[in-house]
Amino acid sequence: MRAARQRNTTAEVLLRAELDRLGLSYLVDQCPLPSLRRRADVLWAAERVAVFVDGCFWHGCPIHGTWPKQNADFWKEKIEANQRRDADTDRRLTEARWTVIRVWEHEDPAAAAERIASVVWSHSA
Ligand SMILES: [Zn+2]
Repeated sequence: MRAARQRNTTAEVLLRAELDRLGLSYLVDQCPLPSLRRRADVLWAAERVAVFVDGCFWHGCPIHGTWPKQNADFWKEKIEANQRRDADTDRRLTEARWTVIRVWEHEDPAAAAERIASVVWSHSA
């Protein structure tokens, strides 16, 4: 177990399939801001919309994020550091007039894709 952000997780692949179904074209795994070395899982540069798919464990999902009992302090620190980093990423992108959408790993991909599409379409209108 290592990276907080793994690429091409099942949740990401399913989400992209739903975005494809809605006829959206998008960029994958790019940095929205060159100065901010954090990659969005899916993004639209012209519309300034960045999507992050957050794993329930690594990002401390309120519904089924688990807090391991073994090495509890280690994991707590790790997960909380990820949450702080997520909040910092959101803040910096928002300041740069990006719209950030976070999708939990557990969310229904079709519903998440529709939520994202409505934002992208409203920005491209
Ligand atoms: Zn979850």
